[in-house]
Amino acid sequence: MSKYILARENGRSIPQEDKIFGISSRAKAMIAQKGADKVINATIGSLLDDEGRLVVLSSVDRVFKELSPADYADYAPIGGIPSFREAVIKAAFGKHQPGGFIRAVATPGGTGALRNVISNYSEDGDKVLTSDWHWAPYNTIAGEIGRSVETFEFFTEEGKFNSADFKKKVNELLGKQESLVIILNTPAHNPTGYSLTLEDWDSVTEILGDEASVGKAVALVIDAAYIDFAGDEEEYRRFFPKLERLPENVISVIAYSLSKTFTLYGTRCGAMICVAKTEPIAEEFRRVCEYSSRGSWSNSAKVAQVILSRIYGDEKLLKEVDEERAGYRDMLLRRGRAFTEEAGKAGLKTVPFDAGFFVSVPCPDPDAVSASLEKEGVFIVPLAKGLRVSVASISEEKCRRLPALIKKAMDEGK
Ligand code: PLP
Repeated sequence: MSKYILARENGRSIPQEDKIFGISSRAKAMIAQKGADKVINATIGSLLDDEGRLVVLSSVDRVFKELSPADYADYAPIGGIPSFREAVIKAAFGKHQPGGFIRAVATPGGTGALRNVISNYSEDGDKVLTSDWHWAPYNTIAGEIGRSVETFEFFTEEGKFNSADFKKKVNELLGKQESLVIILNTPAHNPTGYSLTLEDWDSVTEILGDEASVGKAVALVIDAAYIDFAGDEEEYRRFFPKLERLPENVISVIAYSLSKTFTLYGTRCGAMICVAKTEPIAEEFRRVCEYSSRGSWSNSAKVAQVILSRIYGDEKLLKEVDEERAGYRDMLLRRGRAFTEEAGKAGLKTVPFDAGFFVSVPCPDPDAVSASLEKEGVFIVPLAKGLRVSVASISEEKCRRLPALIKKAMDEGK
């Protein structure tokens, strides 16, 4: 222990190590010691093939290898290169671009978009609303800039989207704050795999159009990190035009990420894309978000911006990328189905699952169950309300074996 504590906590509670990376490194150590066939490492949030190697789209990789130094060595403008801004709007909305005023600002991944929207659309000390099951870094991102997270119950007893609790929490917070940022991670939510249905979206837009929001500044953030791994690309974008119904004081912001969709995780590229009712609100979005980027990371890396621009500038290439991704998406969907089918047979309850990288299992004592599974060579992530299984990182065969192992560990812990 040092005599000094130099770093300032500033209200944050900073752990010794990131929980997920900690578990993951123990899994890797066991693989090195006992062999890969003895270990199920279902902790990783990237898509891996059945042999545990990172899936990289070869069509995207080819574009990467053909770049010239100016494509990656140079600075990009703060808000992104113009061709990227155009391409990323097409990538996000597909054939379902809503009416309204749309602007895109480049960010370092979806994470950058989340950080920037929270910092610019909420006030110091505000609470940001999201579902009780949620990606833990929302808390970190909010906490870093003096905000915190409040949650609504994601599901009813019947396993449906809990619009009543959503409404209650929206109204409570609007009663206390002048501004409200709401984050909905859909489709293929992390950690549950739930996708809001079109009916769920009807409720959300109706609630946010209610009189409770009149006079307040509301930002509805759609964290779309997994949008291309939920199923048919166009089908899963059909909700976008519903955003047109939102009133002038509610701006929609898509937190778009190239990490999963283009397997460009490490290039740190994404965008925040607004759908605003009026042009001044859209222009305000662009100006404020670019200003804020300058003061946090300056410009975003150019490389993936150029890659996306090339892909969207060449119809044949775009088709090739989409088809290659669809093959891997089907592999992922088969894994999710295998897990939920076997969970049904084993009597293991899961949180409502539709698609995506993760399935969650409700569990009263997640830390104890995951610790006992670790001894058996099974690594999953304990969350506040249950266990998160990454079907993205294990084979279909392991997805079939896992539910019975989890059920056994849960029963033994009772
Ligand atoms: N949102 C969710 C729910 C995620 O799981 C992730 C990545 O794991 C992101 C956003 C952002 O990812 P990135 O910053 O790599 O784009």
